[in-house]
Amino acid sequence: MLKADEAIGRILDLVTPMEDEVAPLLTAQGRVLRAQQDARFALPPWDNSAMDGFAVRASELPATLPISGVLAAGASPNAELASGTCMKIMTGAPVPAGADTVVMRETVVEDGKVATFAEAPTLGRHIRQAGEDVSANSVLLPSGSLLGPGELAILAAQGISEVPVCKKPRVAILSTGDELVPLGTTPKDSQIISSNSITLAAQVREAGGIPVDAGIVPDTLVATVRALRSLTDYDMLLTSGGVSVGDFDYVKEAYESIGVSMDFWKVAIKPGKPLAFGTRRIPGKTRQQMVFGLPGNPASSLVSFEVFVRPALRKLQGFSSARSPRISVTLSEDIEKGKGRTNYLRAKLRDSETGPVATTLRKQGSGMLRSMVSVDCLLELDADTTHFAAGSQVAALPLRNVWQS
Ligand code: AMP
Ligand code: MG
Repeated sequence: MLKADEAIGRILDLVTPMEDEVAPLLTAQGRVLRAQQDARFALPPWDNSAMDGFAVRASELPATLPISGVLAAGASPNAELASGTCMKIMTGAPVPAGADTVVMRETVVEDGKVATFAEAPTLGRHIRQAGEDVSANSVLLPSGSLLGPGELAILAAQGISEVPVCKKPRVAILSTGDELVPLGTTPKDSQIISSNSITLAAQVREAGGIPVDAGIVPDTLVATVRALRSLTDYDMLLTSGGVSVGDFDYVKEAYESIGVSMDFWKVAIKPGKPLAFGTRRIPGKTRQQMVFGLPGNPASSLVSFEVFVRPALRKLQGFSSARSPRISVTLSEDIEKGKGRTNYLRAKLRDSETGPVATTLRKQGSGMLRSMVSVDCLLELDADTTHFAAGSQVAALPLRNVWQS
């Protein structure tokens, strides 16, 4: 059976990044910059004070000097310091011509008219030099930068209000199953609510895509084919359920009959062995649609998304490393598993002095919604290893950035 790693590699080989669009700064948050941005001007634009204090000529101190002016942040950068005087200066105010040093206010005795400096200061102290942060024409951010609050800050400080990023992939989510009803409907008899529609939409959104709920189809080939045929306007298609070997599992057959070029439909992972992946050419479109047939069991669907779909979404959005980053965690317990399949166990993390410690959540059954509550990461347990000792380190896919101890 195809190994998880090989499957991810095959998926990524078939994904090309989305076209670019220009996005206003805050809309670009969490996205990847598609073109290098150069500095338009130096920052700071002029020498300015790093402290509330006094602008002086260092060579004139120690001394008692008349205060010849007060400079607030926003004051003119053309002020001049007359020799034999000092000027009061606030943090961020331009340093007046002639001054070469700022003395902290706390070390100065002043009466409003004159200020007494007891010591000779270090020349240049408490002055932020023009261009020391960003020099004019330097590279502000290279292409490929992930745009977080700090990157947005430096762009904003340079007056750059919009940037090129990848278009957000539009992802259709279709749930299959005779037993399913949508959220908002009261289930009757043997019906259940399609929670996967919600889980997958949340995962897509969190991974930067635009989820569109394409509803529920019953377990017939005709209905499945009809629904799939209509979903042409999406960069990616996720179906949930119907990919296994049950009598009413029509998804794979439906994919084939609408011309999806199937790459694989089984991967050696647990949970989530049945997993169909292929690409679909849509007449009149330049991009191929990525098609994933995810298993219906809620935990299998969640895991399969994290392992296979998220890397594809990352590559679509221009991340230079498409594979999801792993963290190293310490096991709090012994774990035994079978040979042959990579296991992804849902676990909770707590902080410790030596880094995050993982405890698996009870009820790891693939149909267990409880095991998805308070899950911080998926432990990635090697296919061929059967015993993992408490205290050993394993790789994990983090599902959130902060965890509650
Ligand atoms: P399947 O993969 O279609 O064989 O479904 C496996 C299990 O997952 C069955 O117990 C289904 O009822 C359940 N299931 C399938 N689709 C969903 C869904 N959208 N939401 C919640 N459970 C589902
Ligand atoms: Mg089903």
